[in-house]
Amino acid sequence: MAEILPEELALEAACRLLEAGELVAIPTETVYGLAADATNGDAVARIFEVKGRPRFNPLIAHVADRKMAERIAIFSPLAARLADSFWPGPLTLVLPQGEGSSVHPLVTAGLDTVAVRCPKGFGRALTAQLGRPVAAPSANLSGRITPTTAEAVNASIGERIRLVVDGGPALVGVESTIVKVAGDSLVLLRPGGVASSEVEKVAGLALQREVKGVEAPGMLSSHYAPDAQMRLDIDTVEDGEALLAFGPNRAGNAQKAVMMLNLSPKGDLREAAANLFSYLSTLDATGATTIAVEPVPRQGLGEAINDRLSRAAAPRDTLRGKD
Ligand code: AMP
Ligand code: MG
Repeated sequence: MAEILPEELALEAACRLLEAGELVAIPTETVYGLAADATNGDAVARIFEVKGRPRFNPLIAHVADRKMAERIAIFSPLAARLADSFWPGPLTLVLPQGEGSSVHPLVTAGLDTVAVRCPKGFGRALTAQLGRPVAAPSANLSGRITPTTAEAVNASIGERIRLVVDGGPALVGVESTIVKVAGDSLVLLRPGGVASSEVEKVAGLALQREVKGVEAPGMLSSHYAPDAQMRLDIDTVEDGEALLAFGPNRAGNAQKAVMMLNLSPKGDLREAAANLFSYLSTLDATGATTIAVEPVPRQGLGEAINDRLSRAAAPRDTLRGKD
């Protein structure tokens, strides 16, 4: 089981663990979160590993204030107004990602938007102390009940992490409200701790709901698709292909590839997860018509990696249908 420390005593220890690339379960006002340094791909990959999440759906980047948020996201006047009204608090804004954003692509699932929120209490203090955004989905095993106490966290993932910070029962108890700011319109992606009528009052306009679900994790596939075709589980590279390799052994004709990047030369799935989105986009940028992908094992994080790869490889007509 993980050590449980009361929040008054835990700030330094939690910050040191995050700096070392480890995970910490933390209280936020919504639910308990499984926190990692959002700029450290290896640490973010651990989140998926510890939760046993079969998919790389995007995570929320928690920030200490709007200033930190502006280092990773672009705020329109409307977005700024919402942040100023509801932060710190349970409102997450999905915004265009800024040029110099240091958030790892595994946090955004390779999207060009980023979900940002400034939490109340310990989560905010920790983010301020770290000086960088913190990625933190709920601190439970995938598909299990969201934890609202330190004991529930420990019962769920206590064997897999070192520290659970105890801030007492979470005040809100449900996840944050997620609103996507798209130009002058607002789309409710997930109802949560802030009533949508409150958001509408501050924004002075109605939240769109009709496209609700389109950006839910399972539907994000269309945004994942690279320009290149994808060929998975290959054993030989064809002319003109870029190669996404994995592990120490190469596919046949690997030297033919217009470019090769190896997700993890030593065959480490966590390292591979951390590299996945950036390597796909680098290979896509070569203009190769096809990205050939060596087999990646399907256990552990390999399940999420293969899920992501098969979404990227899905027929484009189907994907456009989902757009
Ligand atoms: P959780 O961290 O478990 O509270 O879930 C985060 C939620 O935010 C998921 O439902 C994601 O699909 C959503 N989300 C995070 N980033 C984005 C994004 N860039 N665009 C759309 N939805 C997002
Ligand atoms: Mg959850």
